[in-house]
Amino acid sequence: MARVIVIGCGGVATVGISKCCQVPEVFTDLCIASKTKEKCDALAAKLAPTTKTRITTTKVDAGNLDEMIALLQSYKPDMVLHLGLPYHNLVIMEACVRCKVNYLDTAAYEPEDVNDPEFRKYYDKRCQEKGFYAYFDYPFQWAYRKKFEEAGVTAVLGCGFDPGVTQAYVAYAKKHYFDTIDTLDILDCNGGDHGYKFATNFNPEINLREVSSPAAYWEDHKWHRVEAMTVKKEYNFDGVGEKDMYLLHHEEIESLGLNYPEIKRIRFFMTFGQSYLEHMRCLEDVGMLSTKAINYHGMEIVPIQFLKALLPDPATLGARTKGKTNIGCIFTGKKDGKEVHYYIYNVCDHQESYREVGSQAISYTTGTPAMCGAMMVLTGKWNKPGVYNVEEFDPDPFIDAMNRHGLPIRENFNPVLVD
Ligand code: NDP
Repeated sequence: MARVIVIGCGGVATVGISKCCQVPEVFTDLCIASKTKEKCDALAAKLAPTTKTRITTTKVDAGNLDEMIALLQSYKPDMVLHLGLPYHNLVIMEACVRCKVNYLDTAAYEPEDVNDPEFRKYYDKRCQEKGFYAYFDYPFQWAYRKKFEEAGVTAVLGCGFDPGVTQAYVAYAKKHYFDTIDTLDILDCNGGDHGYKFATNFNPEINLREVSSPAAYWEDHKWHRVEAMTVKKEYNFDGVGEKDMYLLHHEEIESLGLNYPEIKRIRFFMTFGQSYLEHMRCLEDVGMLSTKAINYHGMEIVPIQFLKALLPDPATLGARTKGKTNIGCIFTGKKDGKEVHYYIYNVCDHQESYREVGSQAISYTTGTPAMCGAMMVLTGKWNKPGVYNVEEFDPDPFIDAMNRHGLPIRENFNPVLVD
């Protein structure tokens, strides 16, 4: 039925591709296009005997517009699933618009070089005006709305778990349980243990940039800045147990603040263990998280990229990671004049994910929604030309697909609230 190109062949892409291959009636033809073709070939060889999906592979530099356009023109896909790095979102979107191809990604655009003077000017102004400090933000991609509308194709932004499923949970909660939502807390708990003193569960560069930035939450239609890792709460997570979680800025807050102006306060919390935090602080203190190139014996080295080369590849953590993730949203609000509290979440087991697709649950909980989101567009349930965040689509068929493809919802109508 559909031809799809997946960009990237890392942790998330491996799961996304494996899940597409489980639905060959939708994903009839799939091209894995990434920087290192050998990785694509190895995955294609592993999956080919298990699926009717016809898989091909190719090398592409997703940051090169001419290469991207040439790839789209030769393969003629219905959709691009961009499961590589967010640095390339804009180039891939531009190629999709020009070739009239649907688009989906799992992370908001951020530039690879955050020290680029043009970006720095924009960034400093935004920090001052809006008061949030992450490198990622959506306006760069929202600027493509008209172009996608005119090209008659759909772009789905941030369709992993968070961002992604968490926003579908908001739309689902509003549709079924609330007249108005007053507060939203998004809780991301990883109770998995990989046995390393320090490793990141997805791309280390993106992950460390995210967690070392100043945090922020949304209240009364504006951002409130908080120093990184200074607001700590404890929560007892179903399937995991008691964990420390920290307030972080996260990209879905930006779109939810815009699309659900009724919500008075939106916060995002993520769990971290002591060992992770101590390592991160130390790496930051010695300058290893810096994105600024230094000259070392005549060679340009970007510290955070060098660190990435030293750390375990997240794609190899699957076999050793044990435990569960629990990610979801807690709402307070009103229905028919009555106060309602509601918690919707998913619990995903690292070892079960590994047995199914050879990856840990962080990649599983990102790659599976990407496949389900693509399926929504390709089967006509989510195709409205333009650029949209997940909460702007009907959540029901998506949640139904997630229930069937490995990430079922759990609901609690009397949850413990975060103070
Ligand atoms: P990885 O680093 O494991 O994978 C990135 C892939 O992109 C690699 O295969 C890499 O190729 C490829 N790539 C890098 N540069 C290029 C390029 N110029 N051209 C073509 N391919 C390129 O990352 P993850 O799989 O861990 O993460 C993927 C994305 O998912 C990230 O954007 C991350 O932020 C996002 N994410 C989203 C989550 C969510 O819930 N929404 C949760 C977790 C992650 P090579 O292997 O050759 O280096």
